[in-house]
Amino acid sequence: MDEKNKEVRELLLKTRENLIKEIKNKARSESDDTVKNEVGDIYDLASNERDRELNLLISDRERGKLLQIEDAIKRIDEGSYGTCEECESPIPKERLLIMPFAHLCVSCQAEMEKNLTIEKEFKEEREYRKLAFTSSDEEEA
Ligand SMILES: [Zn+2]
Repeated sequence: MDEKNKEVRELLLKTRENLIKEIKNKARSESDDTVKNEVGDIYDLASNERDRELNLLISDRERGKLLQIEDAIKRIDEGSYGTCEECESPIPKERLLIMPFAHLCVSCQAEMEKNLTIEKEFKEEREYRKLAFTSSDEEEA
């Protein structure tokens, strides 16, 4: 494993650990005894039943974060982590420590955000026109 990613990997593992701890704490405060007892090792178990129960305990936001963490760890293990997916230049470690889930380098990220904004504005403009058209249409009717 790349030495410089080791630190990020540890950070990710710690983040994941804290997140799972939070989820477990939340589960412990629930009154349902079955949930309380089963949540202990729930994360390590993969059966659909357990997944379903875990899914009941975690919010979309937490799930999204867990997936991002696991994706980043996977990319570290595969050796594709820390490389910009767009231009393939290395992403600086300082950036990865702040944004461990970054797939893109700073300039590609900025470029992407710019495009997203343009797309959004374009869409909003279209929605607005549609709305304006619909309301004036209704006024005439
Ligand atoms: Zn790039």
